[in-house]
Amino acid sequence: MIAVHDGQCGVCTHFGEHNQADKQVLTQILSSKQAPESLIEGCGLPKNAALHLKVTAVSGCDGFQPAAAA
Ligand code: SF4
Repeated sequence: MIAVHDGQCGVCTHFGEHNQADKQVLTQILSSKQAPESLIEGCGLPKNAALHLKVTAVSGCDGFQPAAAA
């Protein structure tokens, strides 16, 4: 597991935004601030989604928006 900090994809509302199958793991990342090293999700920010951008929990971009804790 790796630590996820504020501003990184793992705690961004767009991380895996359209991947319903991973909702539980994404919620766990929000509460624990820890993510599996190998986890890669699509970015749902419209600009990035059009490019099918895939990111890790510790990636980031200026489109960051904090996810609401479940
Ligand atoms: S690439 Fe940017 S918008 Fe997409 S999940 Fe990461 S921080 Fe959020």
